[in-house]
Amino acid sequence: MARRFRKKHLERDVARRRIEHLFEVARRRVREGETEWARRAVDLARRVAMRYQTGLPTHLRDQVCPGCKGPLVPGRTARVRVEGGKKSTTCLECGTVRRRPYRKEQLERRKARETSRSGRTVPVVRRDEDLVVEEGTA
Ligand SMILES: [Zn+2]
Repeated sequence: MARRFRKKHLERDVARRRIEHLFEVARRRVREGETEWARRAVDLARRVAMRYQTGLPTHLRDQVCPGCKGPLVPGRTARVRVEGGKKSTTCLECGTVRRRPYRKEQLERRKARETSRSGRTVPVVRRDEDLVVEEGTA
């Protein structure tokens, strides 16, 4: 019975928070040298994302090795280099290299700095409308 009235948007909200949390755990484990545990946390996070079909947010997807699906933590499990306008991230576990254009990231960062300096508040655009719970529908 309960299944019939699953509140998907709420489940996904919880899933997203769990994913964020699992990545936090993974980063901490890597810092502690517990790579195997970190790997498990990332694996779990990916499974939660699949189960609830939320996908991993971009900033978290960048922290997963496309080769071995392990956590990429710069200075620990990954080497990050910027060269020729490209940012390459090398997984120190399996050697997979991912290259991304760096310019976009630079521009975004500069923009963020400028807005914070001028003291303006930046409006937050909410993309996931499905998180909004309408009153009376629950
Ligand atoms: Zn790897």
